[in-house]
Amino acid sequence: MRKKAIVTGGNGQDGSYLTKLLLSKGYNVYCIVRPTTRDYLNNHQYLNIKENKNLKYIDLSITEYFNLQEIIESIKPDEIYNLAGQTYVYDSFTNPLHTVHTNSIPVLYFLEIIRKLDKKIKFYQASSSEMYGNNKNIPLNESSTLMPASPYAVSKVFSHQMVINYRESYNMFCSNGILFNHESPIRGINFVTRKVTKAFARIKLNKQKDLTLGNILSERDWGHAEDYVQAIWKILQQKKPSDFVIATGKKYSVKDMVDYVASLTDIKLKWSKNSKGYWNGVDQKTKKILVKTSNKNFRPNDVICLLGDSSKARKQLKWKPKYNFRSMIKQMLQEDLKREAK
Ligand code: GDP
Repeated sequence: MRKKAIVTGGNGQDGSYLTKLLLSKGYNVYCIVRPTTRDYLNNHQYLNIKENKNLKYIDLSITEYFNLQEIIESIKPDEIYNLAGQTYVYDSFTNPLHTVHTNSIPVLYFLEIIRKLDKKIKFYQASSSEMYGNNKNIPLNESSTLMPASPYAVSKVFSHQMVINYRESYNMFCSNGILFNHESPIRGINFVTRKVTKAFARIKLNKQKDLTLGNILSERDWGHAEDYVQAIWKILQQKKPSDFVIATGKKYSVKDMVDYVASLTDIKLKWSKNSKGYWNGVDQKTKKILVKTSNKNFRPNDVICLLGDSSKARKQLKWKPKYNFRSMIKQMLQEDLKREAK
């Protein structure tokens, strides 16, 4: 019998890579997609899975309890991967209610539905490194203190703790993957890596003059989504449910990342601060300002540095990423150059 998996956020970056992985492992996959994003299955097209006969799309908002219950009852899945949500930290400051409605309450719906229906259904929750906020005790592992610094992070802490609570109270198989930032050629263009690779592809092709960023000194532990969904799947294949940090263990600043992307397009940037204290990145050859920073891209409260320690996952899950920072950024830029050249 083929295993059945429900993937929420099925057409997002992680949902798409995970769906591809599950299909390759012989699952029947049911992708829950929000009705408003139904038309945007470009990610599935990019990964060549759109027409797969073992893949079904379900138009549903996970904020609708009774519809969710009905769907789970009718599919009777072996595994549920909850990857849906409002994933953009910046927007969570302007829209905290929407963030909590999509990132927190539905997790409780899933846990309640599983508890009442069939406790054998395994549940994966997409937790986030943002939950650590500005915890300075890096590298961060599963025991590090959660210090959420945005409505997004607070919404994720609620879900994370609820998963642990249900696991301990009802002996359910529910696990959290605490994923550090993970990117790919299908990363949303709001996120800084993709914003930069796309902009430099356009600058290279003379379609754009410059790029405006926010806090370029902040540091992240960036991995590749394709590697990270391997870990997600492995987390639900363990004998016992548990929580795992998934990270590369290396950090770079946004400025480092911009410098690397620029170098791949044969540009060398010289950085200086203007009279108002904002950074400018000047093309050394043409003397043009290619990168600016502006207050409008700063967050009311930013997480300055995130660096993960994934020793537990590497040992227990035998997980190891294939990509490194450079190979990932290179791939993202190459894909953006191809798209922008069309
Ligand atoms: P996050 O870690 O989930 O918030 O992922 P992002 O890619 O959105 O942001 C990573 C870091 O880059 C954060 O510290 C941002 O403040 C910083 N950053 C600097 N400039 C920008 C920008 O223009 N857009 C975004 N999204 N982030 C920026």
